[in-house]
Amino acid sequence: MSPLPDFLRPLVISGPSGVGKSTLLQRLFAEYPDKFGFSVSHTTRTPRPGEVDGKQYYFVPREKFQDLIRENAFIEHAEFSSNYYGTSFMTVREVSSAGRRCILDIEAQGVRQIKATDLNPVYLFISPPSLTALRKRLRGRGTETEASAAKRLATALKEIEYAKEGAHDYVIINDDLDRAYALFKRVALGEQIKSDPLPPLDD
Ligand code: ADP
Ligand code: 5GP
Repeated sequence: MSPLPDFLRPLVISGPSGVGKSTLLQRLFAEYPDKFGFSVSHTTRTPRPGEVDGKQYYFVPREKFQDLIRENAFIEHAEFSSNYYGTSFMTVREVSSAGRRCILDIEAQGVRQIKATDLNPVYLFISPPSLTALRKRLRGRGTETEASAAKRLATALKEIEYAKEGAHDYVIINDDLDRAYALFKRVALGEQIKSDPLPPLDD
């Protein structure tokens, strides 16, 4: 059997917290309202201002999340920065049956778990141009307490280590947003691009 064209495979996007994943996704969904479907994850974290239940996430209490784990509702799930996050089978099924390309925004532990399934997505890593820029962005977003930002930045190093192992099909550096978006759009539309070289990220 010939391999599926990339556009028909789900797209997994990952990268450290604050790198700009949501920003790129928002742009894509605004430009192509009918082509893509976002895999809305479940999470136990509290909503940020402007976030709507069922749109960015299904916001659930820990007990509910644990019930869902027991019921095998998740393709993958992970604990990130003291909260649970998970992708339900139902969400991915719904998006795919609507004939849209399913896009998942998940962290590294989830990527490892997805690799053990038969989902067969394209893996894209969004890299910051430097750790200094990442710190600035995450704090500049104004959504995290200092403790939460510090935790997310520590976890960012693990995401970066995983990318250094070559875990992803493509790497895009989100430095200039317009440039990054142009590349992101091409990957989302199923084109093959030349990856950016992963920066040293040791600053
Ligand atoms: P993520 O979803 O990866 O956690 P966000 O999309 O929330 O990250 O972006 C984090 C912050 O960085 C936001 O305030 C966003 O406006 C800003 N940002 C995104 N892309 C860029 C960029 N290329 N240059 C500067 N700031 C950016
Ligand atoms: P945030 O709290 O900033 O929205 O997300 C924190 C991290 O959780 C991000 O790295 C994001 O990619 C990841 N994430 C969001 N949903 C899921 C999910 O369903 N599974 C996993 N493993 N990670 C997720």
